[in-house]
Amino acid sequence: MGEDLSMSDLERLLELQANDTTSDQLRHRRANLPEQAEISRLEHVIAERRTALDEPMAQRTALGRDQKRLEDEIAGITTKITSVDALLYGSSMTSPKEAQALQADLESLKRRQSSLEDEVLELMEQIEPLDALLAAADVALSEIDAEIARVRVTLVEHQSEIDAEAGAIAAARAPLADSVPTELLAEYERLRPLHGGVAVARLSGPTCLGCHISLAAAEVDRLRREPADAIVHCPDCGCLLAR
Ligand SMILES: [Zn+2]
Repeated sequence: MGEDLSMSDLERLLELQANDTTSDQLRHRRANLPEQAEISRLEHVIAERRTALDEPMAQRTALGRDQKRLEDEIAGITTKITSVDALLYGSSMTSPKEAQALQADLESLKRRQSSLEDEVLELMEQIEPLDALLAAADVALSEIDAEIARVRVTLVEHQSEIDAEAGAIAAARAPLADSVPTELLAEYERLRPLHGGVAVARLSGPTCLGCHISLAAAEVDRLRREPADAIVHCPDCGCLLAR
């Protein structure tokens, strides 16, 4: 009678172990979903591409600043040209000598204006391919962002499936744990973290199914001589053995 009871205690503990192992596997699967790895990989790609854009963006900013400076200077010269023009061709009287000096000023200002405009054109030629590169990079980054969003949808689906399964497993645990004697359960809980989650295993012939190591014949004999309700451990992995 005591033997039957003890066997079924260990049988029930094996059921609890199966439940806990499934729970561990689900947690492991949830933490290692391929979609999560794919999202990390894509986020890494985005970070790398953003870093690669630092240099061209700095160049673009510097060129834009140069362009602005030249255009401000051109605007100043244009204002001067307008006022010299007004003096030269306006109603106020100017002597030929003054007119000659103003004409010389005007030509000098126009030469300067034209040279600055050439510089602006050169800058714009440098800016154009940079802008194209930055725009293309923007499009590529948005595409990766969209891909991440798609993968995340799949990830959440898979997480929800696992969570539903894990919920059912968790709900089944309490009655299983309640069916095992307190001391045996305490021993089980103590051993589980020490042995990678496996605290009880069946002894199949000479082989412990916890660690899949075959016990020495003398060891198997010694275990067989133990009373059926004795708590025995695998000498290799230390887990409880259901004989
Ligand atoms: Zn073992």
